[in-house]
Amino acid sequence: MEKEDFIYSCGKLDNDCIFVDLHIHSRFSRACSKDLNIPNLVKWARVKGLGLLGTGDFTHNEWLKEIKQLREDNGIYWYNPSSSFSNDENSKIPDKSEEKGEFPFILSSEISLVYTNNGKGRRVHLVYLAPNLEAVDKINAWLDTKGRRDYDGRPIFKISCRDFAAKMEEIDKRIEIIPAHVWTPWFGIFGSKGGFDLLKDAFEDKYYMIHAVETGISSDPEMNWKIKDLDNLAIVSFSDSHSFWPWRLGREATIFKLKDGEKLSYDGIIKQIRENSFIGTIETDPCYGMYHFDGHRNCNFSCSPEETTKLNGICPVCKKGLTVGVEYRVEELALKSKADHKNKKCYYKLLPLHEIISLGLGIGMNSKGCWKIYNELIDKFGKEFNILLNISREEINKTIQNELISDLIILNRQGKIEVKPGYDGTYGKAIIGEKEVENASSSSDDNENSTIVDENIKAENKISKPIVNQVSSFKKRDLQKRLF
Ligand SMILES: [Zn+2]
Ligand SMILES: [Zn+2]
Repeated sequence: MEKEDFIYSCGKLDNDCIFVDLHIHSRFSRACSKDLNIPNLVKWARVKGLGLLGTGDFTHNEWLKEIKQLREDNGIYWYNPSSSFSNDENSKIPDKSEEKGEFPFILSSEISLVYTNNGKGRRVHLVYLAPNLEAVDKINAWLDTKGRRDYDGRPIFKISCRDFAAKMEEIDKRIEIIPAHVWTPWFGIFGSKGGFDLLKDAFEDKYYMIHAVETGISSDPEMNWKIKDLDNLAIVSFSDSHSFWPWRLGREATIFKLKDGEKLSYDGIIKQIRENSFIGTIETDPCYGMYHFDGHRNCNFSCSPEETTKLNGICPVCKKGLTVGVEYRVEELALKSKADHKNKKCYYKLLPLHEIISLGLGIGMNSKGCWKIYNELIDKFGKEFNILLNISREEINKTIQNELISDLIILNRQGKIEVKPGYDGTYGKAIIGEKEVENASSSSDDNENSTIVDENIKAENKISKPIVNQVSSFKKRDLQKRLF
């Protein structure tokens, strides 16, 4: 089937479908706003149209204290907006949501594992979900024997992927581990800088515990379907948002479905991940991600994988090794020329509504003009996903009286907005012809760790290496042997 068929094949979604974002962060993670609290997450999740969030950061004690105020039912933690909650000081943002009932969370967190394996430095981010607070307390007690977890919502530990998985299994078999933004160079499990070539190499005898991987913003399912190693796994998408703003939260998400009369439960959601039976995903254009292309941010130079090969991996500006992005790395590990994954899901390719309005107006996303149109649309049609996916051009234009933006919203729905690829920690930019729109806040709520690269890792990168020469046919042959 052609790519286009897949984008639309989710069809009209039923009311019992829920948009879910399980990879987010709290204000206790680096580069996050101090207003990133539970009431604001709930407020903006509802505006976006999300029906379930991960709590993020359950290894951080301050954040965990707040999570512990939620009402538990079947492994789902419910926030009640009318309860007096310790951190709702951000009342200056108008709540556009009609809904005032309880909002559900699943216990989730992210860990950064930095260690040496087979003589190579590995740096891997894993998202993991826990069935209850008892499991979380056990995880935290174990981590305390290994190091500190109070300095960052996403702490770093010198533990291998394999040992981490083994301990999670021992604590509770229902804990779900999902390798995060698997292709990003610095911290993806397949990343060009500190990753592995195969999941089995990372998880060894605990490989069977992995049921799903997260695509990250810089890759989409299409790219991941080329990877033989992922054939039997689910491909999920979450935002990794460091902000509650609707151009970050839920910009990527996974669509789950509840059966007739099924109550939301931890086990039900995990079952859909493990059985790969959820509906599909919401994806941004992979070019939108910070690491789609290769390049050097400081040299203001970016290029495609083909060009990188021609350049022998060396930046023509500073003569040092380029930061090799996601597309290059996917091609390196792809053993199939066709994307023929065994269990393809439909996905929607969508940029956030703010991005589209900003493109139409030629001003930043967090500007007054952008918010004015956004608020008009939300007032009229409720949820952002409803506007992005369902509302007709006529109805949109009647509301905002802006032909260009109305057209752009429909083009976005068709996956036809052009994006200039991001590279080396710089977001991609939506474009119409020559027109380009600056991202409103590309560094303040960083994703995919652009500014969180440790100093010593940066230092390591300064050593000029002809990376591309190492991409040998030998590696491909070695992978072929092990997989087929
Ligand atoms: Zn991460
Ligand atoms: Zn350079």
